Amino acid sequence: MIPRRASPPPDPAEPARIGLAGLDAGPIERAFRVETPGEALGALPLPFEYVDVEVDVRRADGSAVRVRGTLGARAIVECRRCLEPTRVRVRARWAALYRPPGRVTPGEEGVWALDAESGELDLAGPIREELWVRAPAWVECSRDCPGLCPTCGVRLAEQACRCPPLEPDARWAALEGLGGGSADASEGASEADIP
Ligand SMILES: [Zn+2]
Ligand SMILES: [Zn+2]
Repeated sequence: MIPRRASPPPDPAEPARIGLAGLDAGPIERAFRVETPGEALGALPLPFEYVDVEVDVRRADGSAVRVRGTLGARAIVECRRCLEPTRVRVRARWAALYRPPGRVTPGEEGVWALDAESGELDLAGPIREELWVRAPAWVECSRDCPGLCPTCGVRLAEQACRCPPLEPDARWAALEGLGGGSADASEGASEADIP
């Protein structure tokens, strides 16, 4: 999407706000990068380094404003198995509808309050929501990452270690042995109770 009009540089303090001047003359298209997403967009699911946003803003019915666009974001997150820094990319199409505050029904999905007095559209809410929906719940460096050796901590994708494999069966056997021991002890106690 190439902006039809020259985009004014976004206000670094409020990068997700765009002016609505000229909206009645036709759609407004913008493409911009949010450089500090954690500050500009509020709490996010991942430590995104930036969020690239493209939007097409146009009048909907009467006083409503419809927004459609794309977003692309990148974060570096530890693989949940091997803890290696892993690049995560999120790409999505998104849409939102802005209505005057009196016409926003609580809980209505994708509908946001339009602050008509400011003459600006605050896109932070719908962008933040989209990132929460699209971000992976957990991150793995590869689908078959073998993780770390639980004994020595070696990253198993890079080198093998000589630790003996854990044998859960042996541990269950040991627990069963403990169970037998406590049964013996209670027998001993009941013997001691006999006068
Ligand atoms: Zn991994
Ligand atoms: Zn090991």
